[in-house]
Amino acid sequence: MKSDIVIIGGGIIGSAAAYFLAADGHAGDVTVIEPDPTYARASTPAGAGGVRRLMSRPENIRMSQFSLDFFAGFKEVMGTDEHTADIDFRRQGYLFLTNAEGVGDLTRNFETQCAEGVPADLLDVDALRARFPSIGTDTVALACHSPEDAWVDPHAAMIGFRRKAESLGAIYMKDRVVGLETSPTAVTRVVLEAGGPIEAEMFLNCAGAWAGEIAAMTGAMLPVVPMCRVQHFWRCAHEVEPLPLIKDGSGAFLRPEGGGFVGGRPSWEVEPGFIWDVDRGYFATYFEDTVWPLIANMVPKFETIKLERTWAGHYAQNLFDGNMIIGRYSKGHDNLLTACGFSGHGIMHAPAVGRALSELALNGEYRTLDLARLAFDRVIQERPYPETGIK
Ligand SMILES: Cc1cc2nc3c(=O)[nH]c(=O)nc-3n(C[C@H](O)[C@H](O)[C@H](O)COP(=O)(O)OP(=O)(O)OC[C@H]3O[C@@H](n4cnc5c(N)ncnc54)[C@H](O)[C@@H]3O)c2cc1C
Repeated sequence: MKSDIVIIGGGIIGSAAAYFLAADGHAGDVTVIEPDPTYARASTPAGAGGVRRLMSRPENIRMSQFSLDFFAGFKEVMGTDEHTADIDFRRQGYLFLTNAEGVGDLTRNFETQCAEGVPADLLDVDALRARFPSIGTDTVALACHSPEDAWVDPHAAMIGFRRKAESLGAIYMKDRVVGLETSPTAVTRVVLEAGGPIEAEMFLNCAGAWAGEIAAMTGAMLPVVPMCRVQHFWRCAHEVEPLPLIKDGSGAFLRPEGGGFVGGRPSWEVEPGFIWDVDRGYFATYFEDTVWPLIANMVPKFETIKLERTWAGHYAQNLFDGNMIIGRYSKGHDNLLTACGFSGHGIMHAPAVGRALSELALNGEYRTLDLARLAFDRVIQERPYPETGIK
């Protein structure tokens, strides 16, 4: 089989790229290889769906800005005859809390955000109490509130991209890439587990936490590994005012979800690798020992809650500097691109990244937002470009 562009991985990043390529008139040329149409182990459905501009790097703020606008109009643009594309877009804001140690970073980042036009406010403890009476202030020195940031249902957003791309003519194949064949100057074909190989002009590695495995298929190295991040859903019998998505300096976060709350804290202590069983081992008592004290510190009414569910997801973690990698990465293979290493930002950046990948694949350069500083070159040249907003 022959295709112009093969996308490896049909999660939110691969599907956003498929959509932007299709919207640009190239749908018939795009084949997405995705082994699991239920997405049981993909990172996207496991995420919290937060979309924030409270970041430190201008590129990340600008990507979030584009994505926020895109998600706000998602239903209208992405609906098809068969699919409403309702992503439950909630513009309920983001709130970062910091202790005395984090005040410098929070203030510096706030200045960058203001320069980028983000409507955010710094709140001292009195202002925080007045705005959100349920929030505990014992360990808070300063807060930053971005009331127009939002969250979405990540699974619905991913499926929305996929359905729209398919409706425009992109093909999704249920299969797994097990090899990449190369000539001396390019990648020529993907080898599939079940079907025959597919020849193409351009290949996009959008395999998320599996992107490093795909990189190894051409002898390349991406410093991107799976890191287990568990998330929890709980209910609280006490009345709590409508809360934004709240994060503190430990990385703990929470937001309202239906009649309860979702949240967690990235488990910085675990080794890289996939972990699916969160009832045993390290994660068996993680909520009680680690997460609960942190969320009860953020919202003291959470000292009495009912934990209903815990599930595993995985960050695609860039061990080099924690920020995303986009563009070429495999020496001698200019027709192989990636967008990976998003840690906890892949949902919020998916629209902007899908557009950027489409521009790179079709034109060989960015036409809207310049993401050159997020290229793989920085890894080779040892020039880290970390995101220093709260993790
Ligand atoms: C607990 C948690 C909370 C998070 N919260 C947020 C948040 O609030 N906001 C935010 O923006 N981000 C958040 N994230 C991060 C976000 O979920 C990810 O960055 C994003 O989903 C990455 O999308 P992706 O398409 O790259 O990866 P995935 O969704 O994992 O998609 C990759 C796809 O590649 C496929 N694949 C794998 N191997 C192969 C192969 N060999 N051949 C073909 N296909 C293959 C997989 O089946 C998978 O479907 C969170 C993540 C977690 C775990």
